[in-house]
Amino acid sequence: MNSTFTLAVAGIGKIARDQHLPAIAANAGFALVACVSRSAQVEQVRNYADIDALLAAEPDLDAVSLCTPPQVRYAQARAALEAGKHVMLEKPPGASVSEVEALRELARARGRTLFATWHSRYASAVEPARAWLQGRTIHSVHVRWKEDVRRWHPGQQWIWEPGGLGVFDPGINALSIVTHILPREIMLCGAQLLVPRDVSTPIAAELDCIDTEGVPVRAEFDWRHGPVEQWEIDVETANGLLSITEGGKRLSIAGEPVVLEGEREYGALYEHFHGLIAHGAHDVDVRPLRLVADAFLLGRHVEVEAFGR
Ligand code: NAP
Repeated sequence: MNSTFTLAVAGIGKIARDQHLPAIAANAGFALVACVSRSAQVEQVRNYADIDALLAAEPDLDAVSLCTPPQVRYAQARAALEAGKHVMLEKPPGASVSEVEALRELARARGRTLFATWHSRYASAVEPARAWLQGRTIHSVHVRWKEDVRRWHPGQQWIWEPGGLGVFDPGINALSIVTHILPREIMLCGAQLLVPRDVSTPIAAELDCIDTEGVPVRAEFDWRHGPVEQWEIDVETANGLLSITEGGKRLSIAGEPVVLEGEREYGALYEHFHGLIAHGAHDVDVRPLRLVADAFLLGRHVEVEAFGR
């Protein structure tokens, strides 16, 4: 890396503190100079209360990384692109497919990089799984992505509001892996969404998809699961079962564990963002979000007992 880009992070919540700030600190290609937060103050950088204040005060800033909830990301990304900044979006890239397409068009028109991240695609099992599946005969795919919402999303009100995705907030990570490792496109045939009567988004969902050759791809997402989370993808092939577990940290093929490289999802994301900016490129893949949108379009909505947040 021979150039350093100045960067601001907006939305100093769980993922910004757990992953983004450490990954940026470890990357010589970025210099964190500012943060945007309604309440927090990040040390050793300039802090602003909103994105407009940041953009007005930092004309030389190169890039903005948005770690806010999806419902507010479009307005922030738009403002940043219009101010000439490169933009990185946490997953999901937006609250709707159309707003992400609008951002893609705006980024192109302004000649700025837009990177819609899918951090789970950088989990260690994913690239070896993708490589092994190329050219194999696949019989079926089964995704189980289940966790305890009270453990993993305490106090996050936005997940229960329209655009917050509910159980698809983690489930879309599985869809980002599946759409990356399978050799063919998949499409949704049917879905069932279980929505507690006191919130707007599903607490559980089942998706039935097929690929373009008719191979079934079934996904079960559930936020009422515990205490041990289940983040698993099984791919039945003519050469045996490929199994991704622990959200992409472990891989076994035909019963044999595969030795993987160490985990560095967010480190890899920022390296990729740097490369995209350096080459004037984009990376915007809406397929995981489109499958979720299709589940809302085609899915049968079933009201279940109140969540009681
Ligand atoms: P979070 O803890 O609720 O943090 C989001 C932050 O965004 C808040 O702390 C707040 O920061 C800001 N924010 C919230 N509502 C806002 C609003 N209406 N307007 C402007 N800013 C607002 O959520 P999170 O878990 O970090 O998730 C954020 C995004 O990262 C989501 O899209 C999620 O899917 C993704 N993600 C989360 C995880 C995870 O493990 N938690 C993992 C991967 C990806 P300020 O108080 O600083 O303004």
